[in-house]
Amino acid sequence: MSSETTTAPHDFPRPVPSAGPGYEVRPIVPETLRELRLRDDAGRAPRVVIEGDGGTPLRCCLSRSVAGERLFLVSYAPLRRWAAETGGDPGPYDEVGPVFIHPEPCGGWPAAGQGGGGAMSYPREMWGERRVLRAYSTKGEILGGRLIEGHTGTASTASTEENDGNAKAGVSLDEALEQLYSDPRVAAVHIRAVEYGCFHAETRRVDGGA
Ligand SMILES: [Zn+2]
Repeated sequence: MSSETTTAPHDFPRPVPSAGPGYEVRPIVPETLRELRLRDDAGRAPRVVIEGDGGTPLRCCLSRSVAGERLFLVSYAPLRRWAAETGGDPGPYDEVGPVFIHPEPCGGWPAAGQGGGGAMSYPREMWGERRVLRAYSTKGEILGGRLIEGHTGTASTASTEENDGNAKAGVSLDEALEQLYSDPRVAAVHIRAVEYGCFHAETRRVDGGA
């Protein structure tokens, strides 16, 4: 059963294709999923969860579960995994948290392409609840973040010390990502749930600089 509820459809603002700093939204890649399905990043076997009403955000394919579906709940260390790939060193910023994934290969997120890498724009069906965007440096240190309101998918108030200068009310999740990436120090931004703090998706800079 999900820790989050499904929300009714809403008229979200239309995502604006990025013309600014390049970034990509990334699901958990297939190779990592294979490992997590055997043993998660906390060293445990996956926990089997049978969905009630469905609607749980899934990190393997950036979609939502359906009612009665069988899922795995696993611990995942997004920053540690990212650092192993990019040479970062998050040190004490490393953290492990719960994510829901399909128990078997599900084809991943189609927009991510063959390599499972990434694509622009967080899928609309994953919007709904409040989200926080948390920005990281190339080393993996936190540089600040933005709060995204549920239902409207817009950033309300700046929740950061360092990015206050870029803060504008009423921007969409995609626009808030663009604003964060306009800071050349930002290498990655995580999308997380507000109340539960759960990791939802990683975004990465892809152009090497703003
Ligand atoms: Zn999936």
